[in-house]
Amino acid sequence: MSTHPEIFDLIVIGSGIAGLSTAVAALEGGARVCLVERANADDAGGNTRHTGAYIRMKSVDEVTDDFEEHFAANAGGYLDPLLMADVARDQQDWPPLLKALSFVDPNVVSTLAIESPPTLHWLGKYGVKFFPLDVPFPTSAQPRIVPSGGGLALVEALTKAFHEKGGVALYETAAQSLLQDDDGAVCGVRALARGHRKLDIRGGAVMIASGGFQGNAELLTRYIGPQALNLRAMSVGGQHNKGEGICMALNIGAAPCGDFGSYHASPMDPRSRRAGPSIYIYPYGILVNKDGQRFVDEGPGHTDETYEALTRRVFGQPGGIAWCVLDARLDDVPNQSVAIKTEQPPIEAQTLVELAEKIGVPAAQLEATVAAFNAACSNGKFDPCSLDGLATEGVLPVKSNWARPIDKPPYKVYPIISSIVFTFGGLKTDALARVINTEGDIIPGLYAAGEAQGLYYGSYTGATSVLKGAVFGRLAGQHIASSKATQVA
Ligand SMILES: Cc1cc2nc3c(=O)[nH]c(=O)nc-3n(C[C@H](O)[C@H](O)[C@H](O)COP(=O)(O)OP(=O)(O)OC[C@H]3O[C@@H](n4cnc5c(N)ncnc54)[C@H](O)[C@@H]3O)c2cc1C
Repeated sequence: MSTHPEIFDLIVIGSGIAGLSTAVAALEGGARVCLVERANADDAGGNTRHTGAYIRMKSVDEVTDDFEEHFAANAGGYLDPLLMADVARDQQDWPPLLKALSFVDPNVVSTLAIESPPTLHWLGKYGVKFFPLDVPFPTSAQPRIVPSGGGLALVEALTKAFHEKGGVALYETAAQSLLQDDDGAVCGVRALARGHRKLDIRGGAVMIASGGFQGNAELLTRYIGPQALNLRAMSVGGQHNKGEGICMALNIGAAPCGDFGSYHASPMDPRSRRAGPSIYIYPYGILVNKDGQRFVDEGPGHTDETYEALTRRVFGQPGGIAWCVLDARLDDVPNQSVAIKTEQPPIEAQTLVELAEKIGVPAAQLEATVAAFNAACSNGKFDPCSLDGLATEGVLPVKSNWARPIDKPPYKVYPIISSIVFTFGGLKTDALARVINTEGDIIPGLYAAGEAQGLYYGSYTGATSVLKGAVFGRLAGQHIASSKATQVA
């Protein structure tokens, strides 16, 4: 066992958007910061390195109209009205049970909404530019903006600032557990360096920014179930996130928050070697499972509002896989690069029988499914860019929009599985990202941000994960630096 020679004001675990935002904000405030990162310097940045980083805002100055409402609608199951009666009081006056409760704290959400514009302007100081996305999805209910260069640009800009400001980075070092002083305050991290070498790093505060547990097969099976075998992380970056940060905090009494049995689901092509090979083209065809049967309304609404629920239905099919069956009418759909992000070509065939053989589903059933669907299509104007109401009649499940017969060869098929973008289960924090224990008290010296800060239940409030990491990372970094200044004074 060795101990790092320096004592830091802050140790940050993980160098994605949450960790880097914390580290740079703390360095700005004069703190001495150590970054502990599992990956090597070239691969560091977890999911953030690979994301397009869509942001649920109208502009850098304004979040979307539904921002807080969407979180409130997915606040955490059937909450006990007796406990919730105190939510309107100042959070400091909440009873301990409520402070530690696994649900979406409206103070955290309103802080996220209020602090988003200043956080994006702050990122702008490091050279990151944001612009609106004209067509984020084939059809969208809410606008999105993006950083030019995506998540990689965020990682590169903040990593550069981190080094320029004198931060110490320990790459290829995986945090394993937290060190506590005799009073229970967190005072460091025990890590594993290359060669299974134990290393203790001492510091006044620790930020857990090591993502979720999508890279840990054991935790996925424990929380999501054996079917988790059929999930694939949306990027190799997510494989670095093995959940130690969340576990080490739970082990010292942190309260859980976020939906441990769930995750952000997105439809992906399992053949792809890319990060983020999403397939959002299914509204213009049908989805069939291994038995050759339809199982879901492929066109229930705007893509941005419905793709996650639809992907969960794919996950629930035998083997967690489905095939999106299209035909030559696909040529009528514009913006296909937004809807088909895989580099793999579709599987093509001139007949349904040939197609069934290629994808391994029963041919007679596929023919029957397509025939029943085609017979249920009605006449009307097809409009791929908005909800056209072109619905089926007399077939179950119904298809509510964009229903046109599939009868013009060549038939084209994309396989679709559920990717796991990130897990929802994480740590309960207050609006300054301070971790709360199961007794409703703040754990001195411990913070969590990014995927490790639990906030999502049921349906992900799309395009808020990068934003949440940046906002709470920056707030925590500022708080840690200012607390240190107060102690010195
Ligand atoms: C293809 C793709 C598209 C996405 N699209 C969007 C989008 O449009 N909008 C959006 O908001 N979100 C999106 N997401 C999700 C978003 O990118 C992530 O949820 C977010 O970036 C997570 O940030 P983070 O800092 O919490 O974690 P990460 O960026 O994953 O960083 C975690 C870091 O911790 C390190 N680490 C893990 N464990 C340890 C340990 N024990 N010790 C030391 N280091 C450790 C990892 O190596 C990694 O560097 C997307 C993700 C992917 C993959």
